[in-house]
Amino acid sequence: MTTMESLIGLVNRIQRACTVLGDYGGGDNTFSSLWEALPSVAVVGGQSSGKSSVLESIVGRDFLPRGSGIVTRRPLVLQLHKTESGQQEYAEFLHLPKRRFTDFALVRKEIQDETDRITGRTKQISNVPIHLSIYSPNVVNLTLIDLPGLTKVAVEGQPETIVEDIENMVRSYVEKPNSIILAISPANQDIATSDAIKLAREVDPSGERTFGVLTKLDLMDKGTNALEVLEGRSYRLQHPWVGIVNRSQADINKNVDMIVARRKEREYFATSPDYGHLASKMGSEYLAKLLSKHLETVIRARIPSITSLINKSIDELESEMDHLGRPIAVDAGAQLYTILELCRAFDCIFKEHLDGGRPGGDRIYGVFDNQLPAALRKLPFDRHLSLQNVRKIVSEADGYQPHLIAPEQGYRRLIEGSLNYFRGPAEASVDAVHFVLKELVRKSIGETQELKRFPTLQAEISAATGESLERFRDDSKKTVIRLVEMEASYLTVEFFRKLPQEVEKVGNPAGGNPAASTVDRYTEGHFRRIASNVSSYVNMVSDTLRNTIPKAVVHCQVREAKQSLLNLFYTQIGKKEGKQLSQMLDEDPALMERRQQCAKRLELYKAARDEIDSVSWVR
Ligand code: GDP
Ligand code: MG
Repeated sequence: MTTMESLIGLVNRIQRACTVLGDYGGGDNTFSSLWEALPSVAVVGGQSSGKSSVLESIVGRDFLPRGSGIVTRRPLVLQLHKTESGQQEYAEFLHLPKRRFTDFALVRKEIQDETDRITGRTKQISNVPIHLSIYSPNVVNLTLIDLPGLTKVAVEGQPETIVEDIENMVRSYVEKPNSIILAISPANQDIATSDAIKLAREVDPSGERTFGVLTKLDLMDKGTNALEVLEGRSYRLQHPWVGIVNRSQADINKNVDMIVARRKEREYFATSPDYGHLASKMGSEYLAKLLSKHLETVIRARIPSITSLINKSIDELESEMDHLGRPIAVDAGAQLYTILELCRAFDCIFKEHLDGGRPGGDRIYGVFDNQLPAALRKLPFDRHLSLQNVRKIVSEADGYQPHLIAPEQGYRRLIEGSLNYFRGPAEASVDAVHFVLKELVRKSIGETQELKRFPTLQAEISAATGESLERFRDDSKKTVIRLVEMEASYLTVEFFRKLPQEVEKVGNPAGGNPAASTVDRYTEGHFRRIASNVSSYVNMVSDTLRNTIPKAVVHCQVREAKQSLLNLFYTQIGKKEGKQLSQMLDEDPALMERRQQCAKRLELYKAARDEIDSVSWVR
């Protein structure tokens, strides 16, 4: 392939990419500007001036509905793709992506049917384009647009606005600066009355993107010729005029094929007494070459902007893909891997919350530093160790025989009774930390960007980690309760050793007479001393628990959460089968669709970029 062919082919493919992806004429800015940067050829002219016939002979195949009256009623975007020689020719419609047409008569029928599908079998028009691609070794790479013919009056069955509607539709195609105008005028009418030239002049006053085509040279009155026009004297354009002889309606009715028609056209010019000297610059084959040469110049000039648009699109698509997340694998192994990766990402964020870097872990310290000490301070030891209660408990413990020296049983009962109160704050600490952890898990799931697209997996992780946290909480509760029970099960001997001396010290500051203290034994002072002894023992235990409860809680809950929060989840997914795994990874279908589109686009644009890079642009 020559540079020119690959250039035009490239543009064609990009245009096709744009249309396949539904970017034609709207949607995303980049895509429509890309479309706008690429040239296409639009056929303009009055009704029955021979537009469809010209297109057909450029393509070299019969496939367009032709005839008198309004035949073309929807824009037809026709993309020609040159294939390797020897390949079979085929056509494909955008609206029938899976069907390859090799019979071009069926292509024509499908164009008719598809037109009717939108407009009904009427004489009405629609500006919804039909997209058709033709793959053939015998075409040049080109994008051509066939349009309804311009008319002057509405005929029966057409709305009053039809004349204007058609003109507006045609104008919308040719006013774009990327459009190359193929202005078709029949030679058997005065050029001054040409609708094609009228509209072309309006949208392209300098004539730099207008190609004047004169059809029906064979139908001119005997004795007249079109040399004034063809030689550019009647109406000057930047590009040379091209005369054409298409098949007549009689030829069409007789099924004269394209090869024969082209040969006849060549012969017509070669043997024409009027146009013989112009023969090499006339005819549909010459027109096709002229157009594709012009396209090359246009494209060459636009390559830098096309390249930058493609690169911009690629960047945008890449970042959208990142945002959407990459597609999920289909096999179970890879899915498992994906799930584990997602878990790791979540776990990482969760740990950051605990260890710092993200907020929340400090609230655990808050439990130990504020909540627990405050709860311990609030315990109702005053009531429990009131004189009345101490007397009651000690007396009850003594039974019928009041204690002789120290109320051993009484002490035990008072202490055990007091220590029971520690269960409350101990369990409360466990619960408080549990709720902090639960909240941090919830936050971490929300903050794991990668998980966003998998609501099911989020729910499963949330359930499994919730269950794990419950287990840690149970274990932690058992442990702190055990700490409290341990304090109650063995009293610090040291403390009690000091007691008799203290009794004496308090009871008899002067020292000496032990009888004096015995006198005190059943008085208020005695019970007050007992209360104060128990209270200081309880305070000692409280200090100990204030230190050991946090240790137990961190050991059983925080450390476990850090190390094995997801273990339960891992064992759960280990038992799952492929189908269940993919269910866990099910995504929002709209998101999947969007990703697929993005991926397709990305692939096309990357291919286009590679192609631009690989072509040498220096002539
Ligand atoms: P469109 O409405 O502009 O698309 O015109 P068509 O291509 O459908 O042609 C309208 C009629 O003019 C058809 O019957 C064609 O056979 C006939 N026709 C088109 N070009 C020529 C030509 O160069 N010579 C002759 N004899 N007939 C032509
Ligand atoms: Mg037509």
